[in-house]
This record gives sequence, C-alpha cells and structure tokens, in this order.
Amino acid sequence: MSEQVAQAEIGVIGGSGFYSFLDDVAEVTVETPYGQPSDSLFLGEIAGRRIAFLPRHGRRHHLSPHRINYRANLWALRSVGVRQVIAPCAVGGLQPKYGPGTLLVPDQLVDRTKSRQQTYFDGEPRPDGAVPNIVHVTFADPYCETGRQASLKAAREYGWEPVDGGTMCVVEGPRFSTRAESRWHAAQGWAVVGMTGHPEAILARELELCYSSLALVTDLDAGAETGEGVSHEEVLRVFGENVGRLREVLFDAVTKLPSNDERHCACPDALGGQEPGLTLP
Ligand SMILES: [Zn+2]
Repeated sequence: MSEQVAQAEIGVIGGSGFYSFLDDVAEVTVETPYGQPSDSLFLGEIAGRRIAFLPRHGRRHHLSPHRINYRANLWALRSVGVRQVIAPCAVGGLQPKYGPGTLLVPDQLVDRTKSRQQTYFDGEPRPDGAVPNIVHVTFADPYCETGRQASLKAAREYGWEPVDGGTMCVVEGPRFSTRAESRWHAAQGWAVVGMTGHPEAILARELELCYSSLALVTDLDAGAETGEGVSHEEVLRVFGENVGRLREVLFDAVTKLPSNDERHCACPDALGGQEPGLTLP
C-alpha cells in the first residue's frame, strides 16, 4: 500500500458461504489495470484479523473457471493491503482413497489449462500505459508453506484430519475430464483435479503474495470411480454439506497466519530483485 491505509491483510478467495453471516461486512469495489475482478471485495474481521473475501465466480456464480479474471482478482486483493491468501476450492479426487469429504492441502500443482492470462510480466503495455518487464519467478514450490501449515493445524484441531500434500492438477474446464484423461492424471500419481487453482497460484507469486490452497474433494473423478462420472449437482451437494466445517477450519487458519510484517517465507521476495517495470499496488 502506498497512499492509503491497508483495509485488509489476508485474502480469502471463495464463495459467499464463507462471509455472508459475518457482522459488519463492508463491500468495496476495486478498479484494476486488468479490468474488473470477479466481484466486489467484502471486508470483514475474524478474531481481529482483517480479511478481504472475494467470490471467485462472482456472487451470482456466473463466471465459468476459464472466464475468471484472475489477474484482476489478485491485483485487487493486493491493492487493499492483502499479502497472504488462502484459496479454498472444490476438487475431484483422482485416487480412490481421496473420496468425497476429503480435505487436502496441496503442495504441488500441474497446469493443464489452455487459454488463461497467467502473468503480469508479458511485456505488453497495460491500459494505463505502464509497460511491464519480462520477469521469471521461481515456482518450484507453488504454495506458501506457512499458509499450508496454518490450514493443516486448523483442520487437525477441528478434528478433520487433512491430507498433507499432494498434487493438484488444474484443467481448463468448464467440462469435466474424460475417463481417459482422468485415468492418465491418476496414473501420474496426482491427487486431485480442479479448474481454478491455476493461474491463481502463479499470479499470487508474481505479486509477492503468500498463497495456499484448501481443497475439498466433492467427488471421485471419472477415472477413479465406476459409475456415470461427475455431475455438477453432485459437486454442489457435497460442497454444500461441507461448507460449514470448511468455513470453521478456514476461519481458524487465518488466525494462525503471521502478521504481514512478520512473514519469514520466500514469498515477499518472489521477484528476487528483478525490475518488474510496473509498480505493485
Ligand atoms: Zn509465504
């Protein structure tokens, strides 16, 4: 933050089920050089921590995963002061042992998306005239370990034993995988498959934000089950059954994060001194 006081310190990218019952939620709209975020930011407080909630798919859930403006979303969060992000998402289990209701905190991802803007540093001039340099960031470990540990600890304390680590495969969507694709993903040893985890993770890294994911398995993916395959109704039903306890874990996890000034991970220095050619908000 430059001129104004930070309005939030922690970002949560998830649906209205995560904040709609909080007292004193303030809605703020944020303009970005990359266009409109998915929705307004909803600012609230949990145990003294100031949180900015962003409904990833918009409050009416009208944005398909490939239509989400991920660059605007992460930029908007940073511009209100957010430096740490926890991003819950619904995923399919690729291994039979990760059935519906499994909570997994991934430590790796594989990008199988096709059409998404996944960098701020493409050398293309922005609408405001700024020209970003070409920057290469380290992405060997795509998730902040501090954030991961906060979620794992919160889940264990709640009594929902989480899976610590695993690879999240991110597909383009909006369709689900074919049985052959799903078997292929499973054969690689990957744990879960989703549609939104990328490019969220890399864009957060480029903005020097801490980012971790909290993946709720809502179904077994096509190659891991023997029935008719995934249906959207089934995904929504299982998500609905688990959103309450996912919120409990999430709200406890944010209280376990360090203050933004006390981060000891590598995330705040992700650009490693490379000159970005644009001013991060
Ligand atoms: Zn970090």
